[in-house]
Formats: sequence, structure tokens, C-alpha cells
Amino acid sequence: MRVLVIGRGGREHAIVWALSKSPKISKLFCAPGNGGIAGLAECVPITELQFEEISTFAKEQAIDLVMVAPDDPLAAGLVDHLESKGIEAFGPRANAAIIEGSKVFMKELLKKYNIPTAAYETFDAYEPALAYLRSQKAPIVIKADGLAAGKGVTVAQTMEEAEAALRDIMVDQVFGKSGASVVIEEFLTGQEMSLLAFVDGSTVRLMVPSQDHKPVFDNDKGPNTGGMGTYSPLPHIPESIVQEALVNIVQPTADAMVKEGRPFKGVLYAGLILTPNGVKTIEFNARFGDPETQVILPRLKTDLLDIFLAIKNGTLAEQPIEWSEDAAVCVIVASGGYPGPYPKGLPITGLENVQDSLVFHAGTTLENGQIVTNGGRVLGITGIGKDIVEARQKAYADADRIHFDGKHYRTDIAMKALK
Ligand code: ATP
Repeated sequence: MRVLVIGRGGREHAIVWALSKSPKISKLFCAPGNGGIAGLAECVPITELQFEEISTFAKEQAIDLVMVAPDDPLAAGLVDHLESKGIEAFGPRANAAIIEGSKVFMKELLKKYNIPTAAYETFDAYEPALAYLRSQKAPIVIKADGLAAGKGVTVAQTMEEAEAALRDIMVDQVFGKSGASVVIEEFLTGQEMSLLAFVDGSTVRLMVPSQDHKPVFDNDKGPNTGGMGTYSPLPHIPESIVQEALVNIVQPTADAMVKEGRPFKGVLYAGLILTPNGVKTIEFNARFGDPETQVILPRLKTDLLDIFLAIKNGTLAEQPIEWSEDAAVCVIVASGGYPGPYPKGLPITGLENVQDSLVFHAGTTLENGQIVTNGGRVLGITGIGKDIVEARQKAYADADRIHFDGKHYRTDIAMKALK
């Protein structure tokens, strides 16, 4: 088969890496890809929202399957566009990807079907939102409705911070149309868990659980990022909690989408929080997580293409899916300054010295034969071992073998599992 993956980050590198092991794939393309993906797939200079260019390329190249990995093209309907041109595509249609694209939609769906989530109110005008906010107490969470590259959420510790976030979203419109509506939500405490699932409508098959580290500095200090590291499994979280999340949250959500006439077919990502009152939903994403994918797919023993095809054929229930017992830890190596402004184009050295880890490129590009930095999150170094201790040790040893000016990483990835 000839397969085209859409996207350019560490997640896409991990997907391309997993697909490249499939004996059924004769040719892999990635649009636009990055400096690391180029070693496994032919990268084509077409970007994620160039729908016409993508479908024309897919026709010209007789692509058998287009795998749409990122949120933006899914929410904007790339799968629908490809299907309308007779091209096979993997990922939810726009009417299902809305579970990520609109937090108001997501919260109302969960409320309607009694699925556990933080208490909330939604508003599409500033004055009533402000009046409601003033009737509440900090800490409180303010969320722009639409996609905002992970930046549309403020966990406000004070009312001043909360009011400023609301003003940013609804008055100054810093997220544009994504902030036309807002969710004001109860603050929850507890450990977070990312539970991703393959879903073909009504069949839900959980992947192995993982945990992200959003803040940029050790001990969860500093501003939130796209994610500074992940690990899997979560030895400190009992299997009963995972089952509770499946039975109370993930399966009922897939069923609700079917009932709403929006069957979800693809990868459904539940962002969960383990509160003293049970597992609650923080968010749903309509795609693989980044960087969760960089620890999940290395543990997958089954051909990823077979799972994608089973989802498309509606035969996910019968599809064998096997996971390894190994542990995986991914340390993100970021540009100095990230998530604020950071330089680009800095040469990356030492990649050839990496010994034990998988190196997934996130923000890199090839310039005159030299791999250089090209994003905030530059590389994801995934160590694999018999347990978290060994996987961590390998990931950090290899992270130290790679250099570029200003390189930054957290030193405490996966420590929550060891305390
Ligand atoms: P991303 O797309 O980057 O995953 P997002 O913009 O969809 O993020 P959320 O996942 O909803 O945003 O929230 C981001 C982070 O804010 C969460 O991982 C969590 O740490 C924190 N958060 C969100 N909602 C709550 C809540 N109700 N209580 C406490 N913390 C929360």
C-alpha cells in the first residue's frame, strides 16, 4: 500500500516510524514532515491545511490511505474533503472531530449523557460571563471554546488572573474566533492521565495509559507547553482506575457520538484527572497526543496499519492488539525560551552518538545537509527498558549526547511513578 501521513511533529515521526515497520506498506509519504521523518518517508512540501494540494497529490501518487494526524486539518474537515474525492482517509470526520474543536460541544455532550467532568457554565457574551465569574471563587479555570494550540486554557489561582483571561479571550479576542465562546469550569485536583483509544464508532480499544508533563520546568513550575515529556505504563495508577475510565467515560462518549449521529472513527484521546470523587474528564482530543504517542507506539507490537484498516472496516472488535511489557519514557528537548520566543536554525550535533533511545524529531529541519532546530519542542528522546527506572536512565543518557545552543529539558520526567 502507498500511505501518506499528514503532519510535521514528534507525533507524526512516531506514527511514520510505526508504519514504516509494516510489511504491507510499499511507499510512505509525509506532508510536510520534518528533518527526522525524512529518513523514513518521502517528505512533500504541502502543508496541513492545503486540502486541494493534498487531494491532488494523493490522486497523482495513487495513495491508498491518507492518515491525518493533527487537530487543525481534522477540525477543518480534511477527512471529509478526501472522502468526497474518493480518497481513503484515516481520522474522524469534522462532525466527530468537533469533540476536540469545540469545548462547548464537548461539555454539553458530557452533561447530556451524564459523563463525569468538571462542573461548568458556557457563555457567548462577555458581560454575563464576567457576572458569573464574579459569583465564583478562585482557583477557577477559563477555557476558550475552540482550538488554541494548547494556549486557550488558564488555570487561574486568583480572581484577577481569571478576569484577565476572560478579557483576553472575549474582549481582546487573542484567540480570534476560537474565543467567541468560553467555558468557565470548576478547578479539579488530582493526578492526570492520558487515555487514548482506537475507536471505530461503537468499539473502543484502549491503548496503554500514559502521563504528560505540561509545565516547562521541573516540579510542574512555569507556563504550560505542548508537553515536556511522557511515560508509560503508569505503575502507580491501578488498573481498576483505567477500567473505571473506560466504563464511565471513554465507552459512553463513543456511544454518545454514535447516538448523536456523529460516529467517531479514529483515535480518541481522553485527558482525565483522578479526583478524590472519581475519574473526571478534562478534555477530549480527536487524534493521537503529542508527546504521548512517542511512548505509546514504541510499546505497540501489532502492525499499526492493520489497526487503522480495522477501524475503517468497522472490524476493530476482532482485531488483535498486543502491547509489550516494556516501559517507555520520552524526554522532550526544547529550544531555550520555549514556550516564549526562541531562536531557530541552530545546528544540532551528537545525533549519531545516541545509543539506546528512539529519537523523534518535533521541530527540526534539514539545511544544507545539517539538521537544525526549527521549533519550540525540538526532539523527543524515548528510552525503552524493563521498567521506568531503566527507560528513564536511557532517555536521559541519550538526551545528554545531543547538543544545540540553549537546549532545555525537564529532569523529572516520570518521577511521579517512582515516588
Ligand atoms: P492541549 O490541547 O494542549 O491538551 P487544551 O487547550 O485542550 O490543551 P485542556 O487539556 O483542557 O487544554 O487543559 C490544559 C491543562 O489545564 C490540563 O492538562 C490541566 O492540567 C489543566 N486543567 C484544565 N482543566 C482543568 C480543571 N478543570 N481543573 C484543574 N486543571 C485543569
